[in-house]
Amino acid sequence: MRLSEAIRLGAMATPQASMGYMDGEGHCAIAGACVAVGIDGVMSVIEQRLIINYEAAQKRWPILGSGINCPACSDSYHADSTLMMTLWRLNDEHRWTRERIADWLEAIEQRSDDTRTCDAVGLSHESPVAVNAR
Ligand SMILES: [Zn+2]
Repeated sequence: MRLSEAIRLGAMATPQASMGYMDGEGHCAIAGACVAVGIDGVMSVIEQRLIINYEAAQKRWPILGSGINCPACSDSYHADSTLMMTLWRLNDEHRWTRERIADWLEAIEQRSDDTRTCDAVGLSHESPVAVNAR
């Protein structure tokens, strides 16, 4: 399942929240996507509650490590971000709905599919998706 699809499923299942918690009533974009595909949270020693297992999420969706900047603000702010950070900012700071985030992400996934033959190869910092919305 694509990340955008998992985010959409998460949006249908629980209310939107922030901070990447896995044990609350709501979920952020990434947390909801993890729940949708069965990636359990991990206990945060500092916060004493379940948070996103970022390592497992990135393994499941390598595109999270791609260099993709925030589409909601100027390049100088939020620049040089990974998709993981950008999703977090769109959800927590810009307060995009998860449906809107999924729409935006889907276009990026389609573009990366065009240039790659295999989903499983994934993307990395070494081969970032060329995304320059601005
Ligand atoms: Zn931003």
